[in-house]
Amino acid sequence: MTETPTRIRAEIDLEAVRANVRALRAAAPTAQLMAVVKADGYGHGAVPCARAAREAGAAWLGTATPQEALALRAAGDTGPVLCWLWTPGGPWREAVEAGIDVSVSALWALREVAAAARASGRTARIHLKADTGLGRNGCAPADWAGLTAAARAAEARGTVRVTGLWSHFACADEPGHPSVTAQQSAFREALAVAEGCGLRPEVRHLANSPATLTLPDSHYDLVRTGVAVYGISPSPELGTPAEHGLRPAMTLRAALASVKRVPAGHGVSYGHRYTTTGETTLALVPAGYADGVPRHASGAGPVLVGGKWRQVAGRVAMDQFVVDLGADSAAPGDDAVLFGPGDGGEPTAEDWARAAGTIAYEIVTRIGARVPRVYLGKSGENDGDAGSGTDGGAGHG
Ligand SMILES: *Cc1c(COP(=O)(O)O)cnc(C)c1O
Repeated sequence: MTETPTRIRAEIDLEAVRANVRALRAAAPTAQLMAVVKADGYGHGAVPCARAAREAGAAWLGTATPQEALALRAAGDTGPVLCWLWTPGGPWREAVEAGIDVSVSALWALREVAAAARASGRTARIHLKADTGLGRNGCAPADWAGLTAAARAAEARGTVRVTGLWSHFACADEPGHPSVTAQQSAFREALAVAEGCGLRPEVRHLANSPATLTLPDSHYDLVRTGVAVYGISPSPELGTPAEHGLRPAMTLRAALASVKRVPAGHGVSYGHRYTTTGETTLALVPAGYADGVPRHASGAGPVLVGGKWRQVAGRVAMDQFVVDLGADSAAPGDDAVLFGPGDGGEPTAEDWARAAGTIAYEIVTRIGARVPRVYLGKSGENDGDAGSGTDGGAGHG
């Protein structure tokens, strides 16, 4: 259940999402673009971000789970959508009937999707996924010839159409990592095997955000961009968002819940891991780990209050944390900006990632269901549609 945005809100700048999609299309001018909106659009709201991405020319949407893809259809999206994280007994038939492209990495999945296609009287659109070295999902090289031949036979029977051949990088965010060229050559071999048995896909695709930004020869027919759509650099090593023409779309903002003077020697928050060194002013930020503020950023996370960066004083609790304002003053209700694009002097999600020992992907994706998303820059004709507005939509559970 979300709340009205007085305590805290995540402002999502949909014009930034559109501009990021345009910048990424310019970075991969020979390929189509898939906007990856899994995990509720990396915490930004899948439906409004998907709509903004489509408006800016994203030909495809991508999700991890079939449920996420079906939710896009339920919200009215009718374009190409791929989902790739399946388990036995998944909603194959619903996906086939909704015209969703599905990823297949193994014979069991090919059998299940073919059965769903027969039951629904439709041809399933499938993307065969090769493991070119990530060691996660994807068909191992030893099984690839068997999977591609079985898929070709299913095509001949009319149950499936192989619309895509694809794979995923392990280390595209580490420029020069030897696995990158090894995976590219493994992908070329996998394509040759598939094409050799007669498969003629609509799209071959390999690149995620870091590869889209740095490896033009990995673009093929389609690039799958996730984190960059939301204006976040895949890694500090690859430079700032601005260096790639990207702008962070999320600003996480809270209103101070308490401001008070306390004497020297006052312990702060659970465990008293912070003690005031002199008489000082403490301000309470009503946001905690239930809202996605990482507890690992205790004593370290940065917040803009009264024009200056402050640090979390002591532990982040479930619902709140404290900052020490020193000699400065503030009032309840004053703005506390945890992160944003950074050009208003506020920290960025990358700053929080460094403070918490994680990556910026995790900071935005874990913003909690309790935090209302407030959409800025909605295109006029979509005002009032499901999934937009300030209620956070239906997708944040
Ligand atoms: C999440 C994901 C992406 C997007 O990755 P980014 O680094 O966020 O661009 C692309 N492809 C697959 C298979 C994914 O799981």
